[in-house]
Amino acid sequence: KTDTEVQLIDKFEVLPLYIPREKYAHKGTYGHSLIVGGSYGKMGAVTLASSACLRVGTGLITAYIPECGYAILQTSLPEAMVICDEREKHIAKIQYDIEPKAIGMGVGMGTDAATVKALKAFLKTNKNRLIVDADALNIFATNKTMLKSVPKGSILTPHPKELERLIGEWTDDFDKLEKAKAFAKKYDVILIIKGAHTITIYDNHLYINNTGNPGMATAGSGDVLTGMLTGLVSQEYDPIKAAIFGVYLHGKAGDLALSGLGYQALTASDIVAHIGAAYLDLF
Ligand code: AMP
Ligand code: MG
Repeated sequence: KTDTEVQLIDKFEVLPLYIPREKYAHKGTYGHSLIVGGSYGKMGAVTLASSACLRVGTGLITAYIPECGYAILQTSLPEAMVICDEREKHIAKIQYDIEPKAIGMGVGMGTDAATVKALKAFLKTNKNRLIVDADALNIFATNKTMLKSVPKGSILTPHPKELERLIGEWTDDFDKLEKAKAFAKKYDVILIIKGAHTITIYDNHLYINNTGNPGMATAGSGDVLTGMLTGLVSQEYDPIKAAIFGVYLHGKAGDLALSGLGYQALTASDIVAHIGAAYLDLF
């Protein structure tokens, strides 16, 4: 269709989006981020997302996790605060007494019936913008009506399999984009289709990202992106700008992490470790 505007995103498109750090800033200036996720055996996803969120510049970070993750989070990431669910192995109630600016939802969360129920209840009262990933996407895919309670301007970040669960099978790339566009419009969300060239869809615009490499096809890579996007929205990047900027920066961090490692050895933690270098590379 001709009503879609396609834009290739590189350094010169993202540079104007960058929000500089203020001299008189304090940690409250850059927002409190919340990452909700984790389940028994999948706490690493929350650790990765939370560290990425810190590295991208959030002022404060809290992880909401099941009880079994308490020592893991507090040990692996001393900068993070933790709120524990009453349940041991998975989330069964999403309740907290903080005021986050953005919420990353779903990494390592699992799809236990109690977690589905908790997410449903949470959506009834939540007004915060969400960055929805992983198992939260899988829960939405089987409970489509929940998508109607996702606040406007939220960001969804499916990889190809998660996208298929959300929009159904497609015949070719054009069909995929048409279905994805219709989905984004229907639920009024920003849809980030992850892959070799990640495509961000919003409001008749397609933004095609140009950073990243096959070394990033590795465990936890997407969790890092979720943390980064959450941290950017917390810093009051407008959600569509956070999406374009975050996807670019994530890919660039992955590219810079390759040095001395190569595609095979690259891990998601290496991407986190190079978020700073990716920022510095902008200038
Ligand atoms: P996930 O599958 O949720 O862990 O997400 C994988 C992340 O790595 C996404 O941000 C992808 O865009 C990125 N990624 C995976 N494979 C590639 C690739 N071949 N080239 C560039 N980026 C990739
Ligand atoms: Mg993922």
